[in-house]
Amino acid sequence: MAEQQGDLYILRHSTAHVMAQAVCDLWPGAKYAIGPPIADGFYYDFDLPEQLTPDDLEKIEKRMKHIVKQDQPFTRQELSREEALERFKDQPYKKEIIEGVEEEEGAGASTVTVYKNDGWEDLCLGPHVASTKKLGAFKLLSIAGAYWRGDEHNQQLQRIYGTAWPTQQELDDHLHRIEEAEKRDHRKLGPQLDLFSFPEELGAGLAVWHPKGGLFRKIIEDYLKDLHLRKGYEIVATPHLAKSNLWETSGHLEKYAETMYPPMHTDSADYYAKPMNCPFHVLIYKSQTRSYRDLPMRLSELGGVYRYEKAGVLHGLLRARGFTQDDSHIICMPDQLVDEVLGVFDLTLEILETFGFKNPRIALSTKPGVAIGDEEMWAKAEDALRQALDKSGMAYELDEGEGAFYGPKVDFHFKDAIGRNWQLTTIQVDFALPDRFEMEYAGEDNERHRPVMVHRAILGSIERFSGVLIEHYAGAFPLWLSPEQVRVIPIADRHHEHGEKLVTRLREEGIRAQIDASSETLNKRIREAQLQKVPYVLVAGDQEIAAGTASVRDRDGKEKRGVPFEAFIQRAVAENESRALETASLDELG
Ligand SMILES: [Zn+2]
Ligand SMILES: [Zn+2]
Repeated sequence: MAEQQGDLYILRHSTAHVMAQAVCDLWPGAKYAIGPPIADGFYYDFDLPEQLTPDDLEKIEKRMKHIVKQDQPFTRQELSREEALERFKDQPYKKEIIEGVEEEEGAGASTVTVYKNDGWEDLCLGPHVASTKKLGAFKLLSIAGAYWRGDEHNQQLQRIYGTAWPTQQELDDHLHRIEEAEKRDHRKLGPQLDLFSFPEELGAGLAVWHPKGGLFRKIIEDYLKDLHLRKGYEIVATPHLAKSNLWETSGHLEKYAETMYPPMHTDSADYYAKPMNCPFHVLIYKSQTRSYRDLPMRLSELGGVYRYEKAGVLHGLLRARGFTQDDSHIICMPDQLVDEVLGVFDLTLEILETFGFKNPRIALSTKPGVAIGDEEMWAKAEDALRQALDKSGMAYELDEGEGAFYGPKVDFHFKDAIGRNWQLTTIQVDFALPDRFEMEYAGEDNERHRPVMVHRAILGSIERFSGVLIEHYAGAFPLWLSPEQVRVIPIADRHHEHGEKLVTRLREEGIRAQIDASSETLNKRIREAQLQKVPYVLVAGDQEIAAGTASVRDRDGKEKRGVPFEAFIQRAVAENESRALETASLDELG
């Protein structure tokens, strides 16, 4: 809410006013509904006699600039409800809002605040900038349909979106970010690169991964699994369903049911698709009597989960209904907790840096409104996370009330190539689940003790992280992440056999290579490889075959001729194995 009091909020709110004023000037009789500031801008909804076109946006902007030039002061007025209803008698939406004030706040709430500049006025609590000249730089962006009060049974209105910033530079930067974000949109690039799709037949929020996407996932998953094994994690696998009694014990049915798919009824029990993997890992722990010697136990799974997210919030891979968490649960003794959390911090930084993300913003989230476990548990858990954070020396912020329902958490947010923040890693300390499931270990004293549990996902989910990677790299992945690393293009039919040999040789060295021996022209085939963002394209004809070389092209279309083939392989292998983030510049080749 702090944002709502901020200068940007006031600026955008005031800009929305002036936009509505301009629309009313240009379309006499226009009915205006509501127009709040939103993230990065504002909108306003109108009921107009004609359909707006993009050209109209320019017209409206021009009129807005005229209003700005006139430096009209915004003045505040308090009216009685009756006066307000009279004043807005030609504005049915405003009248409905004024009438609603009574319904919501009782007959006593009888005053209505209005802001007025020049002859134009709007219902509003303010505040505003002092006068229209104080508006910053603005731009109207788009027109969309919107129902009055978001209800499809109501009148359809025309919504105009805009953005406003204190300076022209900030506006330009923002417009550049929008343009970049559109170019990078993973929902567009994913199918274009043949990585995945969301078939309608499957249901909203559920993706299928195509062969190139399957390979892309394998690269990420293999890297994660091997690294986790090296760091002392153990890999487990669990099913996608469990009986209702498991979710009762875990507390999910009590606190999380609205995010779960409805149950499947069978003769013996109700089954639920799992929204989280935790209870399954608890059962693995409980499959044997455990002693302090077994701890810490770090159970790791790329676990598929299902969450019935509202249709309106689904957003490609970034918010899906079925996804695969890189989920681990560390079960340890209380005095091992801080070190275990520190270990997760280190692993997080190592993994994210390998994918090209650095300098996270770190936040400690505390107990939310809906929670299980008593105050003492929460205090202990928060204390452990705080101690680990302090020991790590990393700076962090506090997000009050943003913890998980079973424990506080530390989140890592990383910036992408165009400056957007992504919350990726989450680390949660949990004393509640071990209690609920009566987890135990025999201590050195031979007594029974209760372990602590750390829940952690470093990438979040493979799906969401893939979406982030696609947008971060605009689909042009580093060599090690590229499903197809090298494409070989023989110039003419007679060079095909040689091309196949190159592919075989590259594959022998662990490089993912394909040949394009189609009958398209050379230029068209090169262009196609670039569109598919293949890091290196090798072209070979008579001259190259004779010399044992290839002509190498990168994704930007730069070309270097006569690169010795074996030297290229060496370079590619080194780049692949070191998981380099940058592809080699062509000058470094041969
Ligand atoms: Zn206002
Ligand atoms: Zn968990």
